Amino acid sequence: MNKFSYIRATSVNDAVQRAMADQQALFIAGGTNLVDRMKVFLDQPSQLIDISRLQMRRIQDTTAGGLRIGALVSNTAVADHPTVRQNYPVLSRAILSGASQQIRNVASVGGNLLQRTRCPYYYDTAFPCNKRQPGSGCPAVTGMNRMHAIFGASDQCVAVHPSDMCVALAALDAVVEVEGTNGRRQIPFTEFHRLPGDTPQRDTTLEPGELITAVVLPPVPFAQSGVYLKLRDRASYSFALVSVAAMVNIAADSIIEARLALGGVAHKPWRPQEAETFLRGKPANAETFQEAADMALQAAQPLVDNGFKVELAKRAIRRSLILSAKGGNVA
Ligand code: SF4
Repeated sequence: MNKFSYIRATSVNDAVQRAMADQQALFIAGGTNLVDRMKVFLDQPSQLIDISRLQMRRIQDTTAGGLRIGALVSNTAVADHPTVRQNYPVLSRAILSGASQQIRNVASVGGNLLQRTRCPYYYDTAFPCNKRQPGSGCPAVTGMNRMHAIFGASDQCVAVHPSDMCVALAALDAVVEVEGTNGRRQIPFTEFHRLPGDTPQRDTTLEPGELITAVVLPPVPFAQSGVYLKLRDRASYSFALVSVAAMVNIAADSIIEARLALGGVAHKPWRPQEAETFLRGKPANAETFQEAADMALQAAQPLVDNGFKVELAKRAIRRSLILSAKGGNVA
């Protein structure tokens, strides 16, 4: 690690002002990804602004009938919260499918959103990497790319976002609350993470100095049907090859509304909205779900090593929708 200074922020405003004054500074809360990156010199901040003592640890009901989850609530506390388990089981299941109990106990909600890709070339400084050093190249495009993107990639970067929690939040149409020098703003979850384009070094649409303060869940009356299906190389402590968050609202065997989000396939949680639109008004049966799955993967652009993800994702979508139509699944 390089030398850095450490300061404990006294308020959200104090943290934001300090980050604006020193744009080489980084916020730290649980540190479960940041410290790993600092150890191998991926991040070399001039100072760490410790936000872990700020008042952002509450989960509150909203007047709209949803939930507001403070940015410092641990992943474990979200997954175990009775209202999350009852009304948003897809979120609880997604969180419990990721990392380990020890990491979930320390990792914060805000930090989960800001974790960076696990592309092996990004972590190995013997290789060039456009995300680490813009303009240096992307060895994954022609190298080992089994874990990489099949949607939304560019010739600059083909990495995927590693979070499970974010896939569920995308399906739930969550909103990210952030605070900056221009005050508070709300970012729809599907606009929070970005595709790599020509600037793969930027993972999110956060402006300099902005701090995540909360994630807001709107009421989703059919979210109790939520399913999270994660397919990976080993049964635990492994990132998704493909994951699916699915919810369906069915009346008289007809689909009123469906939500789908995919993980492990793009630089951000991927919402196949054409498949969601197709499902509306269709009979809730396996044939419909297969058609939706085929539609969701129609625009996939697999790389040399990850063509298997296309069929894997189709099967995962079909199965998730079938389970959701039956009322939800086990973790
Ligand atoms: Fe770097 Fe992205 Fe290429 Fe991985 S895929 S080596 S993170 S530029």
